[in-house]
Amino acid sequence: MIKAVFPGSFDPPTHGHLDIIRRSARIFDSLDVVIAVNHHKAPLLSTDERKRLLLGEIAAMSLKNVAVAVYEGLVVEYCRSVKATVLLRGLRSSSDYNYEFELSIINKQLDEGIETVMIPAAAKYFILKSSTIKELLNLGGDISHMVPHAVEMALLSCHGDGAS
Ligand code: ADP
Repeated sequence: MIKAVFPGSFDPPTHGHLDIIRRSARIFDSLDVVIAVNHHKAPLLSTDERKRLLLGEIAAMSLKNVAVAVYEGLVVEYCRSVKATVLLRGLRSSSDYNYEFELSIINKQLDEGIETVMIPAAAKYFILKSSTIKELLNLGGDISHMVPHAVEMALLSCHGDGAS
């Protein structure tokens, strides 16, 4: 039984994240998507909202082996607490790779027993990143092809409330 953990900010969850979740749910016995709390960045969406949206999309894909958690702290500690042995990351580009490679070495030093597995982004999603979506949102650009409808609605409503 191999349990994997997919950590990230998911602010907001995008089609790129959901594609990695869908594909890895077929590879691993169980998968925890972990919303990592970062107090140094002001989020667009609250952690509860991100969790609600991710759970909705996971249910819509009928993925029975995927759970969502919110965690503050080292991801390897979360992995240990749920007995996960795989730390999953998505790769969009060679710059993602350089960053992820270094991160995997740090995580390996923190816990020998956890393997980082990197999954390449689908061609149609490799340009999707949270920072681009935030920028488009601020400028009134169309994000409907980047995020699920429910995520777009949540973003438009919090943006309309004055968030940026
Ligand atoms: P971002 O880097 O866009 O802020 P996150 O921090 O939430 O996103 O990323 C969590 C994980 O999802 C990381 O491993 C990241 O590389 C991966 N990821 C993000 N966007 C995509 C995408 N479009 N396709 C595949 N993987 C992605």
